[in-house]
Amino acid sequence: MNILVINCGSSSLKFQLIDSDTEEALGKGLCDRIGIPGSFISFTPRGKDKITKETEIKDHNDAIRLVIEALTDPETGVVSSLSEIGAVGHRIVHGGEKFNRATIINEEVIKAIEECNDLAPLHNPANLIGVKACMDLMKDTPMVAVFDTAFHQTMPEEAYLYGLPYEYYEKYRIRRYGFHGTSHDFVSHACADLLGKPYEEAKIIVCHLGNGASISAVKDGKCVDTSMGMTPLEGLIMGTRSGDLDPAILEFLCDKEGFDIHEMLKVLNKKSGVFGLSSGFSSDFRDLEAGCKEGKANSIRAVKAFSYRVAKYVGAYIAAMNGVDAIAFTAGIGENTCFVRKMILEYFGYMGITLDEEANQKRGEDIMISTPDSKVKVFVIPTNEELSIARQTLELL
Ligand code: AMP
Repeated sequence: MNILVINCGSSSLKFQLIDSDTEEALGKGLCDRIGIPGSFISFTPRGKDKITKETEIKDHNDAIRLVIEALTDPETGVVSSLSEIGAVGHRIVHGGEKFNRATIINEEVIKAIEECNDLAPLHNPANLIGVKACMDLMKDTPMVAVFDTAFHQTMPEEAYLYGLPYEYYEKYRIRRYGFHGTSHDFVSHACADLLGKPYEEAKIIVCHLGNGASISAVKDGKCVDTSMGMTPLEGLIMGTRSGDLDPAILEFLCDKEGFDIHEMLKVLNKKSGVFGLSSGFSSDFRDLEAGCKEGKANSIRAVKAFSYRVAKYVGAYIAAMNGVDAIAFTAGIGENTCFVRKMILEYFGYMGITLDEEANQKRGEDIMISTPDSKVKVFVIPTNEELSIARQTLELL
């Protein structure tokens, strides 16, 4: 079956058509600047060059119409008609406590997702616009919602509660939810396979290190803790997000700099992380790596702080699981930045982790980067969130 995977933002829509038999992407693309002048669709059919078409995209219905046209185009398309698309899997950012797994979408489910909008006011409404546009134009095609938060719903109370008055959890459901769930799910399964251990018996730490970054601890097939919180702002130092900090800093900085709370949050989300630490030099590890090689102090301090925070979380999760069998690195930085992996793993020499320097230089494939005698195995596993969404969609149908 061909499954269309949709990741819809407020002004963009990413799509991929996946053949579930071969698990290959038949085509992938992006509609960007939806509702904004300069909108365009780009589409790359498998094995062919990218096609970009500048065209007015008034709204998400327009975007979905263009996606269907691109996929079924007689010359450059990858299927001959809409009937060859068996289902649509939608990425939904926040499922709150209502969704602990993927779900077939109906009116009731849409209402329940809308009830989670408070928890992700920028993302969930945009995700739902994509769902509704697809439902309008693909009336007979089943739709599935796959939640970023669902994988983490197995966390125990002691891991998801904050040290706040309990009434705030009762009233507003303020707690840790975690994100990047499809990636943590996909990579932890792949890691157990590479380890040669049943998923239900393994202790795995997944380091999803991208522009947004999070870590999860997966014990006996269940997520037991993760670093992002009620929002994706908590945890690691990220590209532009601060991650953990003393909450009292907010009041201090608001007083000193004259920020209101919204301006403060903007600083924490957009101007902090390695970008802020490098004094605005870059949030991209390609630049920071070059900066480190040139001996630039701004890059060195940012990368050191990033790596130290990752190591601290890995250490905490080893404690949370009372041990660890394997650590997996994934996403843009985790898959590509060998020197950062090395910096992180150097903190774990005492645990008998030894790095295979040569393997650590490779890219683009599942690979073990620890030496064969290393007590804890370390892998690099390219993530594939679209494939994970397609698999979960197929499983439900
Ligand atoms: P993601 O959010 O997973 O797409 O990751 C994006 C980030 O990964 C970028 O901002 C870079 O910091 C990093 N990245 C991507 N490709 C490379 C590369 N070839 N070398 C080093 N860092 C990379």
